[in-house]
Amino acid sequence: MEIFKEFTFESAHRLPHVPEGHKCGRLHGHSFKVAVYLKGDVDPHTGWIRDFSEIKSIFKPLYERLDHNYLNDIPGLENPTSEVLAKWIWHELKPLLPELSKIRIHETCTSGCEYTGD
Ligand SMILES: [Zn+2]
Repeated sequence: MEIFKEFTFESAHRLPHVPEGHKCGRLHGHSFKVAVYLKGDVDPHTGWIRDFSEIKSIFKPLYERLDHNYLNDIPGLENPTSEVLAKWIWHELKPLLPELSKIRIHETCTSGCEYTGD
């Protein structure tokens, strides 16, 4: 069984390693959508893997760091592609959510990535 909880946040970024003239090298923003997936056994008493509101509380400090901020200023996100962001969120959450199985990032409606660990 796998559950997911989705979050959205607005952030600015620029990608420093793209070729000269690439549009992603300019400062711009996205409405990022992140889905946090947890895999595990359903507790026979509660009937769930983890309380969704607990996932929200655990994600909140990350949300505060990401929302309406310039991602490039955050240590570890100096080159804030979706892929780098997915790995960064994974490493921040994994110690707090051992059942974490996947991070899915939507950077636009049609572009994004999924990360399932190393
Ligand atoms: Zn971008």
